[in-house]
Amino acid sequence: MEKVCLLRHDSYDVDSLERKLREGFEMLGGEAYLRKLIPAGSRVLLKPNLLSMVEKGSPVITHYAMFEAVIRIVSEYSDDISFGDSPGSSDARKAAEKGGLIEVADRYGVKFADFRDEVHVELDDPIMFRYWDVARAPYEADVVISLPKLKTHAMMYYTGAVKNQFGCLYGSQKAVWHTKQPDPMNFAKMLLDLNSLVGTSFAILDGIVAMEGNGPRNGTPKRLDSIIMGEDLAAVDSVAVRLIGYDKVLHVPFLKAVRETGWGKVMPEDIEVLGETIDSLKCDDFKLSRSAGAVNFLSPKLNNLIGSLTAPDPVVIDEKCISCRMCDEVCPRRPDVITFVERNGKKVPKWDYSKCIRCFCCQELCPKGAIVTRRKLIGKLFRVG
Ligand code: SF4
Ligand code: SF4
Repeated sequence: MEKVCLLRHDSYDVDSLERKLREGFEMLGGEAYLRKLIPAGSRVLLKPNLLSMVEKGSPVITHYAMFEAVIRIVSEYSDDISFGDSPGSSDARKAAEKGGLIEVADRYGVKFADFRDEVHVELDDPIMFRYWDVARAPYEADVVISLPKLKTHAMMYYTGAVKNQFGCLYGSQKAVWHTKQPDPMNFAKMLLDLNSLVGTSFAILDGIVAMEGNGPRNGTPKRLDSIIMGEDLAAVDSVAVRLIGYDKVLHVPFLKAVRETGWGKVMPEDIEVLGETIDSLKCDDFKLSRSAGAVNFLSPKLNNLIGSLTAPDPVVIDEKCISCRMCDEVCPRRPDVITFVERNGKKVPKWDYSKCIRCFCCQELCPKGAIVTRRKLIGKLFRVG
């Protein structure tokens, strides 16, 4: 049984957060557990989510108080800690400055790692992908700890521990992977290989204030009062998706990919939840960005076909659009999908859906939240999409 710790906590007061995280580590094995997780002399890399340049405390990025509480604990076991990320459309250092993480890091002597420094490496025994260009800092660290936020995600349904490590690939690499692997299941297998490559050792998932709706950037803050922590990132995510309403974990594509490949544990019967029960913290009205319904044919090919037919379309809310063209700039299929048309006195995006791979980078990185997803009729019929 894989152990995952589920904690109830409703505050970003750093002292109380530190106490709560220590409670969690105590449940997992206390001092001996931490010494094994972070052996003496380890170089530790913390991987927060720095998706965008947003204000301190925004649920778009890892909360600076969570970051500080983790540093307080980890620094008892290592004096070589760094942190970094590679957001899709903004500068990681500036995002960390604006979000309050640089100030915290400076106080504790934690170094900022620039993920533009890449290495070309080979993964032994991959699920799918052997050769990589990956950020040097997480690859060369001895211990990598993922510090994600719990958010909705239009392509992957949900983003948490596993998906957070996509930021270990430098900016332009992300678009390449989206183009090479438009199918969510193969994209998920890429994420699993990436996590194996950087050797992510542990995740502390912040769901105190999560994000529902039009995530991962333009959704709505939602209180879940939850922290989920564990060594098996897939198991951490399995607990998280059940908290927000995906009762059947295999309806979430990347967890299905985990199950198929044996990469981690996702089935409830394989996971021992320590601390709170899922039922005690489960949110019944969490607004999901994708509904994972009842489609499950015996044929994987038929499932994939239905999946592609039912994937929602990105659409623009004209009133919110400022014609900045960021959606087109980040589109991995540029310039084939998005063109701009004149409507109500301004230029707004128009999609060629026959060429769109539904990666939703445009929706994720629109600075005004002007792009949302629209379910198709066929998706509604099959209760998916
Ligand atoms: S939809 Fe968003 S990203 Fe695209 S032009 Fe409008 S505001 Fe910019
Ligand atoms: S238009 Fe949006 S969803 Fe479609 S391929 Fe481009 S970025 Fe991805």
